[in-house]
Amino acid sequence: MYNNFVNSKQAKQEIARLRKKINYHNYRYYVLDEPVISDLEYDKLYKKLEELEQRFPRLITPDSPTQRVGGEPLKEFKTIEHKIKMLSLDNTYSEDEVREFDSRVKKGLGKAVNYEVTLKVDGVAVALHYRGGKFVLGASRGDGVYGDDITQNLRTIKAIPLRLMTDDKELMNIEVRGEVFLPKKSFEKLNREREKKGEPIFANPRNAAAGTLKLLDSTEVARRGLDIFMHTVPEIPGPHYQSHYETLKKLRDSGFKVIPHIKLCSTIDEVLEYIKQWEEKREALEYEVDGLVIKVDAFRDRKALGFTIKSPRWAIAYKYPARQAITQLQDIQLQVGRTGRITPVAILDPVLLSGTTISRATLHNEDEIKRRDIKIGDYVIIEKGGEVIPKVVNVVKERRSGKERIFHFPKICPVCKEKIYRLPGEADWRCVNSSCPAQIKGAILHFASRQAMDIEGLGYVIVDKLVCMGLIKSFDDIYKLDGETLANIERMGKKSAQNLIDAINESKNNEFVKVLYALGIPNIGINASNLLVNAFGSVDKIIKANIEDLSQIQGIGNIVAQSIKNYFNTKKNIRLIENLKKIGLKFSAEKKIRKKTPLAGKTFVFTGELSSMSREEAQALVRTLGGHPSSSVSKKTDYVVVGGNPGSKYERAKKLGVKTLAEKEFLKLVKNI
Ligand SMILES: [Zn+2]
Repeated sequence: MYNNFVNSKQAKQEIARLRKKINYHNYRYYVLDEPVISDLEYDKLYKKLEELEQRFPRLITPDSPTQRVGGEPLKEFKTIEHKIKMLSLDNTYSEDEVREFDSRVKKGLGKAVNYEVTLKVDGVAVALHYRGGKFVLGASRGDGVYGDDITQNLRTIKAIPLRLMTDDKELMNIEVRGEVFLPKKSFEKLNREREKKGEPIFANPRNAAAGTLKLLDSTEVARRGLDIFMHTVPEIPGPHYQSHYETLKKLRDSGFKVIPHIKLCSTIDEVLEYIKQWEEKREALEYEVDGLVIKVDAFRDRKALGFTIKSPRWAIAYKYPARQAITQLQDIQLQVGRTGRITPVAILDPVLLSGTTISRATLHNEDEIKRRDIKIGDYVIIEKGGEVIPKVVNVVKERRSGKERIFHFPKICPVCKEKIYRLPGEADWRCVNSSCPAQIKGAILHFASRQAMDIEGLGYVIVDKLVCMGLIKSFDDIYKLDGETLANIERMGKKSAQNLIDAINESKNNEFVKVLYALGIPNIGINASNLLVNAFGSVDKIIKANIEDLSQIQGIGNIVAQSIKNYFNTKKNIRLIENLKKIGLKFSAEKKIRKKTPLAGKTFVFTGELSSMSREEAQALVRTLGGHPSSSVSKKTDYVVVGGNPGSKYERAKKLGVKTLAEKEFLKLVKNI
């Protein structure tokens, strides 16, 4: 697109022009939700900028819109100190207390004031710092005094300006606070994806947002679709800004996504009226709102009122009461999740709760039922917060008739009728049958995954179909599939059917350690699988081992040992293994691998790019030879293998005096075995 004669000076000008344009359109799209160009035109601008930056890499700066996602995953977050403490607000559910707050304010100041009233979004509080108009630091609230430096994750939120769109000197070095949240739609999408993958789902959008901000890999953060509303400027930015409300307005024009529906009220009656207005209206918003925040508007008045130890005297949060209803509990049933986790569910007399009819609610786990003394036939209070399904929060014991029945937690899986287990220290009962119909889809996906049997082409869509058509009921059925049946399945051509059959057959060559991991024994990851294979060598010996034998292995604790025992005590699993053996899967390790190698028991960390193999392959090789691959360098690391363009791990290894190996030396070490 750009001719070669563009020199670096011209490029610099053009880059500046493009960035300004892109930032403006970002703002129109992500902050104002009023785009003025098409996505296609936007992509063109973005590509142009990327291209130029690639040709002149020295001109790339962190505030470029192309630099939102990137960098290696972090090892941990740095701790930062909040110069101005991030205090929490006083909470109240009562109108009277809002009036009392107003009286205290008036008494303290000796006059009436304006209140700035904003929606209270149920999210995660963060602080953004700007220097010279550029976004330099983003931090979580933490304990209010110390938080985590989560800049890398916050940069991925497109509504956060990397560079301010203003020349106002008073705003150049500002701190702005806000609430990171996950819109309801993104939350549902994320949970659907997690359910498919057999991962635990998030209870509500706030937990999901908090969990996402804690991820060390910003690429994953960028995928999840976090958003932000700015609502607080903790310190007066300069003499031009006396009103917080006016300051926020100015911030909106400077590129920030300021929380919408702010209202300036001159009396407390007006405030209470606004609270009433939003009680129902908030349901229609695309994000969770659990109350309103009422703040004295003028910076000067805020300063005069000051703080208590815990919270500012010039603000209060009004929270809407949780939505509750009373109904009769007709039965308790068990639900089996995709990972075998068993949850007791209350079957309720249908009742209307904030617009929807509720007939089921979660009871969490066995202990929770005992702790709340919940009996079948009881009248119970159910509550709906931001949660996916409502929960039972209390029993109305006054309404007991004497006919209520104690619930005895069943000892078998309601779906496959196999025995269920609860490990010491765990709250949940679990079905550990690899062929349990409730879990089979997730189990097959795990079985076929790359670190396990590595069957390419056996993905979610096809597994879903095969299971629903009854063609796969357990792992051994995979090996009974034929090309013709597969080709007849909708949208699957002859060629891809044959490819899948080939991949399935090839998977029979996998080493025992992969097969063992593929079984999906609870608590047994790839590392524990390696430990077991090295210690026992065959599945028969693992089956015969008792708890003491198992827990004596370094790295296998008591609970893991118990988990292994439970798995092999399940008859269906033993039968499954016999069938898989007949098919030709490997259930013992070859001798040469079990021999003591120079890698045995040694910890390896890889940094930089290897030229002879991928990092995953190298890690797998280390594992096969009895070593432990790790992702971070510590004093306990034995070797750091250094490839091309090594990262910070190399520096750390040198600093700690850990032995480093060039790729060649590493290859020599593994080839001599
Ligand atoms: Zn089951």
